[in-house]
Amino acid sequence: MNVVILGPQGSGKGTQAQLIAEKFDLEHIDMGKFLREVALLNTPLGKEINEIINIKKELVDDKILKKVLHLKIQDLPREKGIIFDGVPRREDQLAYFEEAMIKFGRQVDRVILIKLSEKESFQRIAKRRICEKCKKVFILGKDIQSETEKCPVCSGKIIQRIDDTEEGVKKRLKIFQQETMPVIKYYEAQDNIIEINGDQIIKKVFKDILKQLKKIYD
Ligand SMILES: [Zn+2]
Repeated sequence: MNVVILGPQGSGKGTQAQLIAEKFDLEHIDMGKFLREVALLNTPLGKEINEIINIKKELVDDKILKKVLHLKIQDLPREKGIIFDGVPRREDQLAYFEEAMIKFGRQVDRVILIKLSEKESFQRIAKRRICEKCKKVFILGKDIQSETEKCPVCSGKIIQRIDDTEEGVKKRLKIFQQETMPVIKYYEAQDNIIEINGDQIIKKVFKDILKQLKKIYD
């Protein structure tokens, strides 16, 4: 089974991807995380990515993303299913994503779209804090109790990001909708989309996903 999971920031997409990977023994491909891993390698591609994300602090282009995606998939045995976390997210990624899938004899069985309301998104992001140094994200009232606490990982200062405001949230949700629309439409035409209400608690969201995914086997 190959699954794609999409959702705006704060939708709990990463957590759900992890839970699905464990449940169905899938490889969890989080492109952001994998890029950071490749950036540590002493290879031409590793150095190139390190230069972009760690030195220039820019986003990598689709040409590199394509290379990295191929690198990741080619190492996996074909019988091992994959959950793609946050990719393909834009129309320009869709073409090379589908190309890679065909090349490696795979197909997308389901695309899970976690929907999050503006209201819930505001409430979640208002509680988000981030370590200035190691960039680990914490939820106020859950992972940390006060904003004056130091990062438990690296003792860095914990801050609220400037774009974690209502305006920033609105803008990000809008960009997410615009960017993913063509991807959603593409998979909708194949009757492959599962829409999940992301306003619920983690357990309930996961339950809803399982219910939908089980239909593939029944
Ligand atoms: Zn830290």
